[in-house]
Amino acid sequence: MVGEIAAEQNWSAVELDQADPLAQVRQGFELPEDLIYLDGNSLGPLPKAVPDAMARVIRAEWGAALIKSWNDHDWINLPSRVGEKIARLIGAAPGQVICTDSVSVNLFKVLAAALQLGRRPAKILSEVDNFPSDLYLVEGITALLGPDAPVFEVVQADALIDQLDTSVSIVLLTQVNFKTGAMHDLADLTARAHAVGALVIWDLSHSTGVVDLDLDAAKVDFAIGCGYKFLNGGPGAPAYVYVASRHQQRVSQPLSGWMGHAQPFDFSPNYQPAEGVKRFLSGTPAILSMTALNAALTVFGGLDLRQVRAKSEKLGAYLIHLVDNVEGDLELISPRDSRLRGSQVSFRHPLAYAIVQALIEVGVVGDFRAPDILRLGFNPLFNSFADIQRAVQSLAMILITERHLEARFSARKFVT
Ligand SMILES: *Cc1c(COP(=O)(O)O)cnc(C)c1O
Repeated sequence: MVGEIAAEQNWSAVELDQADPLAQVRQGFELPEDLIYLDGNSLGPLPKAVPDAMARVIRAEWGAALIKSWNDHDWINLPSRVGEKIARLIGAAPGQVICTDSVSVNLFKVLAAALQLGRRPAKILSEVDNFPSDLYLVEGITALLGPDAPVFEVVQADALIDQLDTSVSIVLLTQVNFKTGAMHDLADLTARAHAVGALVIWDLSHSTGVVDLDLDAAKVDFAIGCGYKFLNGGPGAPAYVYVASRHQQRVSQPLSGWMGHAQPFDFSPNYQPAEGVKRFLSGTPAILSMTALNAALTVFGGLDLRQVRAKSEKLGAYLIHLVDNVEGDLELISPRDSRLRGSQVSFRHPLAYAIVQALIEVGVVGDFRAPDILRLGFNPLFNSFADIQRAVQSLAMILITERHLEARFSARKFVT
């Protein structure tokens, strides 16, 4: 890998793009011509297939066929159909993934399921730099369980392996850190957790669609992931949940709504969970937003995720190489070794917020994460090496001219 990066130092963006087997995939997206979008890890752009699919479902299905569409257009099985498309991207055999709700809600469900299945007394191990929503959800379920609450231990990432002993019943981790892009070794940590008798829950929000995952091979117990980041399903797109086949009949989840019932249209007063992963459904699926995600997933048709991952590693290596030559106080906080990094590169800078705003003004969209992080995410499906080169040129120009010091770039918006 280091050799590969060294070799790239002499490569031009043009040559890298010419050699890119995924260069044409960008045609599947609606992207403004002169925009360099390095925020697909936060909100994926619009795939061209989405508007027509949405228009058809709205006009012909909702508009004309109305309620018959639950049967005639198979709306009722859309969560499973979209789940199976995602399953292919994460190395899951059929019957283990379903599309539903948000990541946060799905985490609540799998936490409850894992608490049921795991040994007692329960202890959840996570890392302090996990995505805050994940930590909040553990707080929430802990408050609900009162005296039966699990012990919750959060440690620094580098202390995880030391803290993983037989007192731990559940390991809850996000594979790719949203701030630094640091990536855990999912297979290794899963094996280590299992070796001490713990279950694993992986949050794959920043991995799905860009990391070549193989959940079945790693024997992952539970996973959740996001529909609107690298899957490009649109703002607030539904998320997914993965439950290994071997656990499905032995667990239930507390948001036991009618859509997770074995026979919702029997309208029985008693809950009887559906077979398999369907019991992780709660209420009526959001057909319109799930339609957008379903159409968005067509851009992955036939793609090999190992190829996507390989390009992602190269884009990151190229970005780091270029920024190494930029004057200024940017401090790389992402791993240099591409194998240890997801599809983003982050830098610390005291004026990171203003730099991000100045970049946006010149058409380079990254984002800011408190307190001082400039985050550049890239999706190999639509970002080119030329995008990276132009982004770094803009960054260098802003820092050299101190344009980011202009007052208008410091006014903090609510969403960063
Ligand atoms: C984006 C993200 C989420 C999003 O959760 P929602 O409930 O769908 O908003 C959760 N976890 C991680 C690690 C994320 O990156």
